[in-house]
Amino acid sequence: MPYVITQNCCKDASCVPVCPVDCIRPNRDSAGTEMLYIDPGTCIDCGACQEVCPVDAIYSADQLPQPLAPFAGLNAAYFDAHPLRPADPPVPPARRTSHPSTLRVAIVGAGPAGCYAATELLGVRNIEIELFDRLPTPFGLIRAGVAPDHQATKNVVRVFDRGLADPRLHCHFNVEIGTRITHADLLAHHHAVIYAVGASAGRKLGIGGEPLPGHHSAADFVSWYNGHPDAADIEVNTSHLRAVITGNGNVALDIARMLLLDPDRLAVTDIADHALDTLSRSMIREVVVLARRGPRDAAFSVGEFLALGDLDGVDIQLVGADDLTGRPGDDVETAAKLDLARSYAARSILPGNKRLVLRFHTEPVELLGPDRVRALRVRETGAAGGGDEIPAGLVISAIGYRGRPVEGLGFDDERGIVPNDRGKVVDAPGAYVTGWIKRGPRGVIGTNRICAAETVAALLSDFDAGLLDREISDRQALGELLTDRGITEIGWPGWLSIDAAERARGAQVSRPRRKFVTVDSLLGSALSRST
Ligand code: NAP
Repeated sequence: MPYVITQNCCKDASCVPVCPVDCIRPNRDSAGTEMLYIDPGTCIDCGACQEVCPVDAIYSADQLPQPLAPFAGLNAAYFDAHPLRPADPPVPPARRTSHPSTLRVAIVGAGPAGCYAATELLGVRNIEIELFDRLPTPFGLIRAGVAPDHQATKNVVRVFDRGLADPRLHCHFNVEIGTRITHADLLAHHHAVIYAVGASAGRKLGIGGEPLPGHHSAADFVSWYNGHPDAADIEVNTSHLRAVITGNGNVALDIARMLLLDPDRLAVTDIADHALDTLSRSMIREVVVLARRGPRDAAFSVGEFLALGDLDGVDIQLVGADDLTGRPGDDVETAAKLDLARSYAARSILPGNKRLVLRFHTEPVELLGPDRVRALRVRETGAAGGGDEIPAGLVISAIGYRGRPVEGLGFDDERGIVPNDRGKVVDAPGAYVTGWIKRGPRGVIGTNRICAAETVAALLSDFDAGLLDREISDRQALGELLTDRGITEIGWPGWLSIDAAERARGAQVSRPRRKFVTVDSLLGSALSRST
């Protein structure tokens, strides 16, 4: 039986080069699809792709778990629309340099973008990498963004384990760049600096009532349930029957599931203790997800939309979805979303169940208080006038993320990115960017692999051309600088110590881990052994 790629696909394309019959697509520029697909007519069932998939998204067709069964049809449909033909080879790793010196690179941000950049650079023989993160923990959004019920996605960190323990790479966690250590400091100690700092701010709706208690950005809410130290103290009100989420991207669906899932399902994940406690006592019975456009333009991916259909005790109701008919020329994923929407619309709604309302063609107008959020006023997108009110005690804006300015570099305020040319920062010699701060908040974890390859290629080309040649201080001097500035840094062994302690705490209650959620407790755990 052929193999099938399913919901968790991270698009990092580890599977593509190992396929002996080259039947996984798209293989070079996967920006145009939400996931990768295997051609069932060409697959020879060798299982090589399954072995290397970092997120366990690939199954033999005869072993597909029932909820993932529709992915067999989706993989096949992709190749009906795009018959397999010889394709460009995957993006070659940019790993060669003819320069005689050892290249010293600082990477700022140890999330997926920074980790893929480090992995790419480790292909260079003479390399020294210093990897910084402002938190005592690595992995950025893999730890603090991926929803707790998507544990398999978090396994992507296995791809980085060997690289981060490589003796040519040194981790400096709990070190914030831009405050006590500046961009100029990094340039004095490295040939190049790669910023992989993501897009950590939530975008603003720009409507009245946004500052009211009870309204949160998705950036804050997701950080809260994932135990990010910045969000551990947020108060989340779950004492009302209804919550509203504006925006219908994958983050909105993640949040909707967190609010609707049975607490027993959350209790077997690595969700933060405080969030598990709050959500276990939740009164919320209905979550409304508001989209300003129609179902064919929905921002969620077909895989995540499909998974909604299997939430125990949760009915899906579509409101304002008047345009569910497919059109000639619809791409495979749009057609699949419309098919699914029609099937959800045909399901019956049971009175005792919780409800996920997907409301389309509706825009938020104003959050209503007075002292805290009591309702959201909405109207048909583009209509004049006041519209209607949706009573709710909790409103979350999941309308996308935004990068923050980086000390020492220019900033494109409109796009929320550092201006760059294929990763090379404009007007800032020696500075490079990768991930969301380079291209904006789009794409899944594995998208960062190709993004990092492009940035590293630009960096190596500059190094070879002599553009990065200058006197720099060595890593001993960097260590002295960190000590002089009074910084308590956590190295890779310190993270391993945190990791082991969190897993041990989790094992006691049959959970994958119980996270430490304050910087002090993380430092205490890291420093209790070695750093
Ligand atoms: P997103 O996919 O860009 O979705 C943003 C949503 O907000 C869209 O529905 C957008 O509507 C809406 N929106 C924007 N401005 C608005 C406004 N002023 N008023 C009302 N609605 C507004 O962003 P995201 O959900 O934050 O996801 C970010 C990236 O992470 C995406 O690439 C996503 O696929 C990825 N991600 C993936 C997963 C997964 O694979 N499981 C999980 C989480 C995140 P319009 O479409 O009309 O602009």
